[in-house]
Amino acid sequence: MSSLKNNINKTTEIDIAIIGGGSAGITLAASLNNVRAVVVEPRTPIERDCSWAFWADRVQQKKFKAATKGSWQQWRLIDHQTEILHCSEKYLYTSLRSADYLAQCESALAEGVDLIRAPAENIRANGLGGSFTAAGQDYKSAKIYDSRPPKIAEGGLKQHFLGWDIRTKAPINNPHIVTLMDFRVDQSRGLHFIYVLPFSDRRLLVESTMISASLEDKEWYRQAIHKWLKEQNIVIEEIVGEEMGIIPMQSVAPLDEDIAAIGAASGAARLSSGYAFSGIQSQISQLAAGISRGHYSVPPPISPLLNSMDKIFTGVLLAHPELGVSIMMRTAMALDADGFARFMLGSATFFDWVKVVLAMPKAPFLKQVLRL
Ligand SMILES: Cc1cc2nc3c(=O)[nH]c(=O)nc-3n(C[C@H](O)[C@H](O)[C@H](O)COP(=O)(O)OP(=O)(O)OC[C@H]3O[C@@H](n4cnc5c(N)ncnc54)[C@H](O)[C@@H]3O)c2cc1C
Repeated sequence: MSSLKNNINKTTEIDIAIIGGGSAGITLAASLNNVRAVVVEPRTPIERDCSWAFWADRVQQKKFKAATKGSWQQWRLIDHQTEILHCSEKYLYTSLRSADYLAQCESALAEGVDLIRAPAENIRANGLGGSFTAAGQDYKSAKIYDSRPPKIAEGGLKQHFLGWDIRTKAPINNPHIVTLMDFRVDQSRGLHFIYVLPFSDRRLLVESTMISASLEDKEWYRQAIHKWLKEQNIVIEEIVGEEMGIIPMQSVAPLDEDIAAIGAASGAARLSSGYAFSGIQSQISQLAAGISRGHYSVPPPISPLLNSMDKIFTGVLLAHPELGVSIMMRTAMALDADGFARFMLGSATFFDWVKVVLAMPKAPFLKQVLRL
């Protein structure tokens, strides 16, 4: 039930409007207190359900327990020559059921913070705030944060994937190990790997993931999954669901430059890996703390230094796609499990970086540094 007065045909004035109630928008909305705010989101959590994975430390393991679909201490990367197995004491590779996380945040909204299940339209910026229409009602807000997905540049490097949620006929081997990247697949069209989350010994998420500039036909990813499963002697009993995603690996532009962007629209997805969840959590907790003190500017989700390092990495991948497998394998080999998790989370120590830099092929990285 809305706590705002339903002034049909009159403009409703609020303190904060959040456009889009995805990972960033609903997390921010759920952190607000003592304000008149709305979060505008057209789709229900279940309509947007997918798996959000990240490396969770002990605090996060507790915090996100209720939405956790699976968590693993061990993960592996594999190519034709080597299998690297990491086992961490500190971090669990954790997959959240996004629908559960979103629904929990929606039900935790404080009094005065309303969810409008409709698209925001006619959005107009005015200073830090602006106006828009949603569900036939006009709103004027002192501050607006926009989390609508950013524009993806045509021809830019992206991570694109198609995944199947499957039930298998027989139990699989090693259901306690996540396959982060299995490179023993067709590498002719870009850096390609199979990603597997074993939620049990008979229930898996299997994705064919590409890092390249051009998308493939859906059938191409499906064939890749089929072939990989056949080679592993895994027989499908049922395909329970299919998900697709495109995550930009180049700097993104928000839909409206005049409105403060949050989440992926503000560049929260790591350019080198596409992981966004941790960056968003940290951005939103800093922003919410700022708002409670009367500071409304959006902190960058990723430090400029880390962004520059990621740009060098993606530049090398674009110029030398044939080095992709070796770069990923060398990175995983140079680090232990905790170092690898820190590296992927964007919180690598100086020594983690030294190990990774020493493991890289020098010439292409130096060339890329000189180009920036
Ligand atoms: C299938 C998939 C799997 C992913 N897996 C991972 C993962 O495992 N780990 C990870 O870290 N990242 C993952 N990502 C990256 C992902 O983009 C982010 O983790 C996260 O969803 C970004 O959050 P966000 O709030 O910025 O954007 P979103 O969660 O995309 O939220 C934007 C919201 O804006 C809403 N919207 C759009 N237009 C309007 C409008 N006009 N008015 C109001 N609302 C509007 C949309 O409905 C949407 O809910 C995945 C992405 C996809 C697509």
